[in-house]
Amino acid sequence: MILILNAAVTEQSPDFQLLKSRLQDYAGVQVRVHVEKGAEQDLTEIYLIGNTKSLDMAEMQGLPAVARVVRVSEEYRILGRHKDDQRPSHFEYNGVRFGQDTLNVFAGLCAVDNREHVEIMLKAVRDNGQVCTRMGAYKPRTSPYAFQGHGKNCLPYVFELAGKYGIKVMAMEITHESHLNEIREALHQTGNPTGVMLQIGTRNTQNFELLKIVGRQTEMPVLLKRGFGITLDESLNAAEYLASEGNRNVVFCLRGMKTNMGDPHRNFVDFSHVPVVKRLTRMPVCVDPSHSVGTRAASPDGIMDMLHVTAQGVLAGANMVLVDFHPQPPKALVDGPQAMLLKELPYFLEDVQIAREAYLKRVALRQRQG
Ligand code: PEP
Ligand code: MN
Repeated sequence: MILILNAAVTEQSPDFQLLKSRLQDYAGVQVRVHVEKGAEQDLTEIYLIGNTKSLDMAEMQGLPAVARVVRVSEEYRILGRHKDDQRPSHFEYNGVRFGQDTLNVFAGLCAVDNREHVEIMLKAVRDNGQVCTRMGAYKPRTSPYAFQGHGKNCLPYVFELAGKYGIKVMAMEITHESHLNEIREALHQTGNPTGVMLQIGTRNTQNFELLKIVGRQTEMPVLLKRGFGITLDESLNAAEYLASEGNRNVVFCLRGMKTNMGDPHRNFVDFSHVPVVKRLTRMPVCVDPSHSVGTRAASPDGIMDMLHVTAQGVLAGANMVLVDFHPQPPKALVDGPQAMLLKELPYFLEDVQIAREAYLKRVALRQRQG
């Protein structure tokens, strides 16, 4: 059960102290306080954990400082959507809004290879009116002999160039807690020219200790990839780990599921789950056409499968697209064969826009049905 407190109440308020002492009367009920930082004011929420089944909604509603009471199901307590739950389904980061009602495209390098390619990429992103990108510095690779990413060495020039080209948010995967500090330090040293959305890759979706550490910091939002070989419920619980530690600015990314070798795509595309995740949780949902499809194959209509699946995801209400581009794919150190070409960026963005407009028309049509 969640008690959402009156807007003016803080942990220092006398009403809050009174409420806390009243809550001690309920045996077997533990209290966890969460302060949601808002643009205008903070909102204090009290999570009641344990033996809450017998608690009476009306009685809780009558306690001091309580504005609203939400009875939550056992699952996804913080990020989930519960009955009569009006908590927000968006957040702002570095001036960019991420919500279940917005769409942001993160086109960029799968892996940073050199300064020149980073600059060409970021310039193309800026020239196409975008403020978000992806840049991989730490790469989790199947083979220990494969390029593992330039790591912290590339961060200063990546961040400086991001600032130069007006990038507000960059998705960057981390695979170890030490990377968090390396990113923080490099951002600090370069004067915070950009924002970073920490990406947890599909191989680390259930790395619970990493999730806890990333969840304990709240300065950077998190992009959590769905685990490629686990249930949706398990992946949503992984997202809940981040939130339960304090960071609820989480975007959930669909990136395809492992099936068998010989399938036409690198992974089995799961973008039909976009509306499912939006129904079960309040997280914005991202689709990754690059790591799900994994080839530049096109159908007889001339449209690449990656664009078809992106459109399918966006048409179903996706809120973010994470996609690999590269100035010279044959020279890319990671995932060159699936990279889109820079000259295809305006085309890609226009195709996404067509799908977005169609989605908004579909929502309007549904609303007219009453
Ligand atoms: C990536 O986005 O670069 C990546 C490695 O993706 P995933 O974790 O989905 O395989
Ligand atoms: Mn990749």
